[in-house]
Amino acid sequence: MLGKVLIANRGEIALRILRACRELGIKVVAVHSEADRDLKHVRLADESVCIGPAPSKESYLNIPAIISSAEVTDSVAIHPGYGFLSENADFAEKVIQSGFVFIGPRPETIRLMGDKVSAIEAMKKAGIPCLPGSDGPLSENYDENLKIARRIGFPIIIKAAGGGGGRGMRVVHSEANLPSAITLTRGEAAAAFGNDTVYMEKFLENPRHIEFQVLADSHGNVVHLGERDCSTQRRHQKVIEEAPAPGITEEQRHEMGERCVKACQEIGYLGAGTFEFLYQDGQFYFIEMNTRVQVEHPVTEMVTGFDIVKEQLRIAAGEPLSIRQEDVQLRGHAVECRINAEDPQSFIPCPGVIEQFHMPGGPGIRVETHIYNGYRVPPYYDSMIGKLIAHGETRSGAIARARMALQEMVIGGIKCNIPLLLDIINDTAFNAGGQNIHYLEQKLGLKH
Ligand code: ADP
Repeated sequence: MLGKVLIANRGEIALRILRACRELGIKVVAVHSEADRDLKHVRLADESVCIGPAPSKESYLNIPAIISSAEVTDSVAIHPGYGFLSENADFAEKVIQSGFVFIGPRPETIRLMGDKVSAIEAMKKAGIPCLPGSDGPLSENYDENLKIARRIGFPIIIKAAGGGGGRGMRVVHSEANLPSAITLTRGEAAAAFGNDTVYMEKFLENPRHIEFQVLADSHGNVVHLGERDCSTQRRHQKVIEEAPAPGITEEQRHEMGERCVKACQEIGYLGAGTFEFLYQDGQFYFIEMNTRVQVEHPVTEMVTGFDIVKEQLRIAAGEPLSIRQEDVQLRGHAVECRINAEDPQSFIPCPGVIEQFHMPGGPGIRVETHIYNGYRVPPYYDSMIGKLIAHGETRSGAIARARMALQEMVIGGIKCNIPLLLDIINDTAFNAGGQNIHYLEQKLGLKH
C-alpha cells in the first residue's frame, strides 16, 4: 500500500479521503491555505503544510507549493479530490515527473477527456452513444456551420471544447442567431478557458442527467457501479442526487454499464471515473467524462456497499480492484442532499461562524461534512459545507429518512439551504421521481 498520501484539497472531500487512508493504514499529509488552518482534516492529519494565502490561485491551485510539500513530507502519492487541480493534466504530469503517484487516470487520459471534442470522438469510436453534432471543432466558415446546423436540426447548442462548470454554452433556436452565437461563445471560451475551440450538438429540450460510475485498475480489470440521477439542478449545479435512477431498467443499466466498461478498456482508463449522459425518450447521449471522484459518489457507495475512495487508493498502489462485476448488486435506494452555506431564497453565499451544529442520525443516515461547533466557514471557496446521504430499502424509504434527517439537523449562526432541500424532498413531483433537468428551476419559478 501507499505509505503516505498528500491530500491536495480541502473541506468534506479532504476529510473523506483522510478517512479512507486511515482505514488502509496510510499516513496523511494535509495541505491548506492560510484561511484553512482550522479545517477538520488538517487537525486530524499526521502532518500539515500551509501552501499559501487564502485565494485558491495562490494555494490549492499552486502546483509548485503542492509538489514541494509532497517532497518535504516524503509523501508517496497525491490525491487531488474533486475541483481544483483534479482534472488538470499538467498537474498530473508534474506530480508523476516529480516522482509521486497521481491518484487518478494517466495525464493523457485527463487531457483527452478534458477536451470535449476529442472526448466525444474517442467515445464515439468506443461505441458510446453521442448526440448528433459537428463531429469536430467549428470553422469560421458561415455556410459550412449553417450546413451542419441544418443537418442536426434546430435547436442546437454551441459548446466550448474546454468548457466546464456549466459555462461556455449557448442554445440556438434559429438560423438567424447562429453566427452571433458562435462568435459570442468563441469569445467567452477564449476568455474563460484560454481555448476558443467550439463545437455544435443537438440541444435536447427535456433531458435527465444520468451518469455511470466506473473503476479501472492497472491490471485491465474494469467494473461499473451502476448509475446516478443528478437531474435536480440549479444553474447546472447539482442539488440532490440519487441512485439508482428512477425508471431505469436492469437491462438498460447492464447495457450502458457494459458500454462504459468497454470504452474504459479501449482508452486504457485508470482509476475512478464517471460517464455523464443526457437521457431523453429512452436514449442515452454522452456529454462528458469526469476523470475524478465526484461529489455524489456516496449514493453509489450506499447502494453497492463498496468504497470508491479506498478503491482509488488501491488502484494507485498498483493493486487489483477488490470488486468483480458479478459482486455488484444494487440494494435499496440512496439520496444525497448538498448542504450549502447560502441563503435558501437568494442563493447568496453566507460564510461565517457555525454557532450550533447537531448531526442527524439513525439507520441509513450518513453525513459527510468538515464543519463543527465554532468552525468559521471562510468566504473564499465553494459554499458546499457538507452532504447528507440517506439510504432506504425503497426510494420512498430513502426520501423519508432524508426528510427526517434534514429536520433533525441544526446548523446555527449562518444561513444554509436546508429549508430549500426540505421543500424539494416534500415536493410531489420530486417524490414521483424521474424529473428532468429543468424541474428545480421551474419549481423555483426561474423558468417556464
Ligand atoms: P460542463 O462541463 O460545463 O458541466 P456539460 O457538457 O456537462 O458541461 O453540460 C452541463 C449541462 O448543460 C448538462 O447537465 C445539461 O443540463 C446542459 N446541456 C449540455 N449539453 C446539452 C444538450 N446537448 N442539450 C441539452 N442540454 C445540454
